[in-house]
Amino acid sequence: MNSLHLHIQLNRSAFKLDVDLQLPGQGITAIFGPSGSGKTTLLRAVAGLEKNQLGRIQIGPHVWQDTHQGIDLPTWQRPMGYVFQESSLLPHLRVSDNLNFGLKRALKSAGNAQSDAARALQASIELLGIGSLLQRMPHQLSGGERQRVAIARAIAMQPQLLLMDEPLASLDAARRQEIFPWLSKLRDELKMPMLYVTHSADEVARLADHLVVLDKGNVKAQGPVSTVLTQVVNPVVVGEDAGALIAGHIGQVDTQWHLSRVDFDGGFLWMRDAGLHVGKAVRIRILARDVSLATTEPQNTSIQNQLRSSIQSITPDAHPSQVMVVLKCGAEEVLARVTKRAVEELALQVGQTVWAQVKSVALVA
Ligand code: ADP
Ligand code: MG
Repeated sequence: MNSLHLHIQLNRSAFKLDVDLQLPGQGITAIFGPSGSGKTTLLRAVAGLEKNQLGRIQIGPHVWQDTHQGIDLPTWQRPMGYVFQESSLLPHLRVSDNLNFGLKRALKSAGNAQSDAARALQASIELLGIGSLLQRMPHQLSGGERQRVAIARAIAMQPQLLLMDEPLASLDAARRQEIFPWLSKLRDELKMPMLYVTHSADEVARLADHLVVLDKGNVKAQGPVSTVLTQVVNPVVVGEDAGALIAGHIGQVDTQWHLSRVDFDGGFLWMRDAGLHVGKAVRIRILARDVSLATTEPQNTSIQNQLRSSIQSITPDAHPSQVMVVLKCGAEEVLARVTKRAVEELALQVGQTVWAQVKSVALVA
């Protein structure tokens, strides 16, 4: 019951949004799609900012909109946090005053007790690690710090839902790297659903639990992130970025060779030691172009990682010389992009057992 139902229909002269989604009531749902696919419009509709939107918006037990029942709460009665690409901090106020400014407004509308609000504010300051920034002015913060303050301010109001519209898009690569751990922490610790708009496959792989892919105002695919990212029919991520996302944990650290072993349902993979301790949960990404196939167990190879797996499907890829092979490896799926000629020469078939040789593994979270 603790889930989101977003059924939204909206017509503009040159654009139509039509979605009907049941989403998890906790964690990050990424809304992914090309520019103009309706991601911002979807968030604005959830916030009640769009004119002429029909349907039903329910957050857990709270109904924000139901056209049949004549319910349509105005934006100020929808308890949500909204974080934009450019931070919306007030430039003339210190960080602490920016945080309190939002809170006073929320208190007025929600009627929360003062002490509750103070506790929620303190918790969000700790969650986003901004305790040492409270006396600064916004212009004394880096882009990443500004966004952390904006997120802390949004969740201090204890909203029912957190909306984030490309919150990292205005940051450079280094600042983005800095903020990822904070967003992962938010995902793992916050008991609040989050809709996170992005057009970056990297952000989806690192942060999302659930994935909705929009295309021209319609839902092209949706589901748990590892399932949707690896789907080969109607691929969500095409080209060089296509690959698998696997959840596992550190099983062993080899200090002599600076490697750590990631164990998952289906086998294990060695990767560069990133200083994580045994038992730590991790997500790894294996790009399809980094996987090759052998029909017998490879011997005398420099490749450290081989996964015994079975071929689940073989699908034509964008270029006529290539195919995408989906491998079942325990409960996980791995993708391999190989040439059609290799498929022919090795007589690869669905159901066959093969060894996937994995040339490179990236830690994404
Ligand atoms: P995204 O966030 O995925 O880039 P948007 O939701 O901003 O996409 O836009 C979806 C479509 O609606 C686009 O075709 C865009 O041109 C159009 N659009 C966006 N805002 C308006 C507006 N205020 N009036 C009319 N059309 C708009
Ligand atoms: Mg947008």
